[in-house]
Amino acid sequence: MPGFEIFGDEERKEVNEVLETGVLFRYGFDQARNNHWKARTFEKELAGKIGAGFCHLCSSGTAALSIALAACGVGVGDEVIVPPFTFVATIEGVMSAGAVPVFADIDETLCLDPESLEKVLTPRTKAVLVVHMCGSMAEIASIRNFCEKKGLILMEDACQALGGAFHGKFLGTFGKVGCFSFDAVKTVTCGEGGCIVTDDPKVYEIADAYADHGHDHVGSDRGAEGHVIMGLNFRISELNAAVGLAQLRKLDRILQIQRAHKTKLKEALGQIMGLEFRKIPDEKGDSATFLSFLLPEASIAARVSGELASAGVDGCFYWYHNNWHYIRQWEHIRGVKSAAALPLTLFKTRPDYENLNLAQSDGIMSRTISMLIKLSWTGEEIAQRIDKMKAVLRPYF
Ligand SMILES: *Cc1c(COP(=O)(O)O)cnc(C)c1O
Repeated sequence: MPGFEIFGDEERKEVNEVLETGVLFRYGFDQARNNHWKARTFEKELAGKIGAGFCHLCSSGTAALSIALAACGVGVGDEVIVPPFTFVATIEGVMSAGAVPVFADIDETLCLDPESLEKVLTPRTKAVLVVHMCGSMAEIASIRNFCEKKGLILMEDACQALGGAFHGKFLGTFGKVGCFSFDAVKTVTCGEGGCIVTDDPKVYEIADAYADHGHDHVGSDRGAEGHVIMGLNFRISELNAAVGLAQLRKLDRILQIQRAHKTKLKEALGQIMGLEFRKIPDEKGDSATFLSFLLPEASIAARVSGELASAGVDGCFYWYHNNWHYIRQWEHIRGVKSAAALPLTLFKTRPDYENLNLAQSDGIMSRTISMLIKLSWTGEEIAQRIDKMKAVLRPYF
């Protein structure tokens, strides 16, 4: 997953071009910037790469979620169906929009189970925010069908799935809007950054304005620009965009290496009879940032997680015990422990987050371990990793 592993001369060149002009900002200074438009170029190239109509680059993936929710008209009292397995930012975004997150179960894809959506549907449901976790995809076609049938907005948090695709169509382009992150540990990094993509010109227009105090970006005099709506400041700096631009141009190579490394590991571990892998609806479209596997029981998964660490197999995550990615450890979110009162606390209809029935998700997450696929591994390191993993896993099968 990590683009930081391949930071090099290309990134330095892009950043230096910005430093030489002194225009560290994405808007304005048209003369002084010497024709360098890093953020704008990034947007054009990313949209072209994944086949999206529009892209707006912003300061983080979390910002992208806030922008996406605003641009889709999701606000106070609206219910948004979300998975319990995601990075906390997904939920923070929904809550800070004034909306109410409603948790549905995940399935063996480790993403929202299309079958679980109906059960949490209410007259207040406005959107489904699907998260493509750990580099691979949800059953996105079924989820999209469900949304179309029920008249719901489909949104995608594809922060962890840049370059992933389902039957040739890139993740992030299935819904009304898709979100990406370019933070420290993502496939492509800007240092900090994120973006939204959409095919809808209206959604793009609102996103573009909302992320910059409502500026309509018409004309070449910033001070004279109009303001159609209120916004906030979620701008990215031109320096961060420059890093991202060089990284984005390495995406194909990143995906190729990840897929090659993952294939080797998965084939070798596949020889262990009974070891189950995460379900991947379109294996070819997996961005291969992680290899996720399921152990027969929760107690075994917890033990294997410890044993892999002791054996020196680094980069393995047992999400069930993780503070940031699964609802079980999110007592701050379940208790809505915010710095100041959030709009959703005014709604008596909000779910009782302390007493949700997510038995299906618990059953899957308590058995799942994910291993980060690194770009820098040598063939020998992969072979050693396979040997160590087999030694840990074999006794349980
Ligand atoms: C990283 C991530 C985010 C947030 O991105 P930031 O750039 O760190 O704000 C949101 N959702 C998911 C699934 C993520 O992995």
